[in-house]
Amino acid sequence: LVSRKKHPENTIVEIKGERIGDGSQYFVMGPCAVESYEQVAAVAAAVKKHGIKLLRGGAYKPRTSPYDFQGLGVEGLKILKRIADEFDLAVISEIVTPADIETALDYIDVIQIGARNMQNFELLKAAGQVNKPILLKRGLAATIEEFINAAEYIMSQGNGQIILCERGIRTYERATRNTLDISAVPILKKETHLPVFVDVTHSTGRRDLLLPCAKAALAIGADGVMAEVHPDPAVALSDSAQQMDLAQFDEFMREVRAFQRQF
Ligand code: PEP
Ligand code: MN
Repeated sequence: LVSRKKHPENTIVEIKGERIGDGSQYFVMGPCAVESYEQVAAVAAAVKKHGIKLLRGGAYKPRTSPYDFQGLGVEGLKILKRIADEFDLAVISEIVTPADIETALDYIDVIQIGARNMQNFELLKAAGQVNKPILLKRGLAATIEEFINAAEYIMSQGNGQIILCERGIRTYERATRNTLDISAVPILKKETHLPVFVDVTHSTGRRDLLLPCAKAALAIGADGVMAEVHPDPAVALSDSAQQMDLAQFDEFMREVRAFQRQF
């Protein structure tokens, strides 16, 4: 179902008036985790100033250590809903269990399925049974074929509103948190008709690589770029080393827009 062979036209995923996959390039910006209303509101104001409609923020955080901040749960989703209404933004948040998919429908505009759950087949099936766009991330060590099959799981249940997101894969290289597989973008666009985003934060794990990797993603034809922004990354409860602060985010967007105008 996701194959370009059977369906040559691009799928367009409509999110609050944005048409993802229509040839324009979109940005999904926001904190790693929802920590408070004030924290998300500060980022939402900055996101809005740059003409960006899609705001991210994790309420359920699948952390490597059980002792790390696990997210605010449904309280986090409620904060996102309030922000979406007040700032007229579309909000994206990760859901980690099938039981929370229904709940999420009332609060968020896009359900994210994270790298750690790319092959959580019950979650994929549950996501396939709702009428809500899904942002599906590539698994930590998933091949492109496995990634495409995960999207097929969702679509086979009836939901074709899927955005694929390359977020780096585990390799022997330790200079970056993961290895950004930039060639996955044109391959996914060739093999499927779905929009493809690139997450520059979780792929690199390095603030100094966000801009060059975002440029590479845009140049290679990604439909969107995701990155994390926090009002005060030093005190962030997760991913403190790679989130941009608001000044860095301003600079990032200025550079990225200048780059976009070049081609
Ligand atoms: C995230 O986007 O918040 C996240 C945890 O990313 P990933 O699933 O790609 O690690
Ligand atoms: Mn993060």
